[in-house]
Amino acid sequence: MNENKKTPEFKASEEGLIFEISKEGRRGYCIAPSELDRDPSATIPKRYLRQEPLPLPQTSEPDVVRHFTRLASLNYSKDGGFYPLGSCTMKYNPKAYEYIASYANFEDTHPYQPEETCQGNLEILYEMEQFLAEISGMDAVSLAPAAGAHGELTGMLIIRAYHLSKGNLRTKVLIPDTAHGTNPASTAICGYKVVEIKSDKNGMINPNDVERLVDEETAAIMITNPNTLGIFEAHIDEIADIIHKKGGLVYMDGANLNAIMGISRPGDFGVDVMHFNLHKTFATPHGGGGPGSGPVGVKKELEPFLPIPRIAKESEGFRFIYDRPLSIGRVKTFYGNFSVILRAYAYIREMGGEGLRLASEMAVLNSNYIRSKLKNHYHQSYTTDTLHECVFSDKYQQQYGVKTLDIAKRLMDYGLHPPTIYFPLIVHGAIMIEPTETESKDACDEFINAMISIAKECEAAPEIVKGAPYTTPRRRLDEAGAVREPRLKW
Ligand SMILES: *Cc1c(COP(=O)(O)O)cnc(C)c1O
Repeated sequence: MNENKKTPEFKASEEGLIFEISKEGRRGYCIAPSELDRDPSATIPKRYLRQEPLPLPQTSEPDVVRHFTRLASLNYSKDGGFYPLGSCTMKYNPKAYEYIASYANFEDTHPYQPEETCQGNLEILYEMEQFLAEISGMDAVSLAPAAGAHGELTGMLIIRAYHLSKGNLRTKVLIPDTAHGTNPASTAICGYKVVEIKSDKNGMINPNDVERLVDEETAAIMITNPNTLGIFEAHIDEIADIIHKKGGLVYMDGANLNAIMGISRPGDFGVDVMHFNLHKTFATPHGGGGPGSGPVGVKKELEPFLPIPRIAKESEGFRFIYDRPLSIGRVKTFYGNFSVILRAYAYIREMGGEGLRLASEMAVLNSNYIRSKLKNHYHQSYTTDTLHECVFSDKYQQQYGVKTLDIAKRLMDYGLHPPTIYFPLIVHGAIMIEPTETESKDACDEFINAMISIAKECEAAPEIVKGAPYTTPRRRLDEAGAVREPRLKW
């Protein structure tokens, strides 16, 4: 692979804007000359007619198709290759669910349609709530939130409403230092102060620390289990007891549910509120900013606070219920991202309970296979057993002047998407790998071999790794600059 270190002279992948291929007079359609001669003001009042022509690119149909096909080929996707982004659970999405989601019966329903005319859709939503409740051990589920972070916000609003109903809002929420950034953000938006819990040397929360930090002002603990090191919080039930004794609630960030489906249930280990990331755990499209779905599950006592509407099954059929005085209100127009929920529903129906459990077991197996093959080449800050993802760092490579970013960029020259880097924050130079269950041993081996080869390059020729990538249309981008000063116009 070392021969890849030079940039090719000619880059077929260099693609400009469509305006750059515009040529005066080219068009992608034919209109009969007699039609073109017609005076538009005969049908449209003159004051609505544009005075100047629209400044659109002038291109033929093949020009347009080729332009966008070339652009699409620059996009790395799960359909194109291994995508080991830790914490993100980049599963392959079976095409059958896309087909189901495109059924006219689903696609053509209008959200304002009378309930009696879309009973099938409501039945799917109702059943989906039951499935998620069963998988998680929670008592009631709302499918309304549109993403994980939105689920967190909804869950925290429920916790807030619960404490308010008891007469004291309380002021703070305990969050481990391994948490995803959205956890403290959602908490802060709800007006709570975030109190950080430090992980112990095993990469877990120690019940003694929780005992020391919790008091009557603690509204909740917000915990991710397994956590973002891929480690199952072994003391979770003890921690839940400590929080409950002080009148607080246990929120679980369920983004990592793919590690424990059909094996252990948050509702059984003391969780009161949690969110699911359907787009991570249940094979629905994911990435590029959406769409997502972040249902929230709660224990019975919190059910009255769930967002409206709720779906009820009554003798005459399914209907939405809005009259719920304790509800936190609406969090989303209509009832969640239906087409995403639909794909997740199809996935759960196809997999069944045993299939979901097998998926988790395979995800854990793949991650542990990669971990055991890489542990002699990359440093691990925590040696505790891990589930579906594993975290390394650049500690061994630092002596050659190579950093995690360099390793990630070099992986692109091997045709692979880099893992998540520099997260979780408690691991300096973190490299966080999550293969998911849909990867074969061959795919895992290809990734392992690339990582080992890069580790060897770091020793033998670190400057190659530090200069990577060489094979991509652009080399090192100023990512922060692109965010701060985006150039959106040519
Ligand atoms: C992805 C993720 C979130 C946020 O979920 P979104 O659907 O991206 O909003 C929260 N916590 C963890 C641990 C995650 O991995």
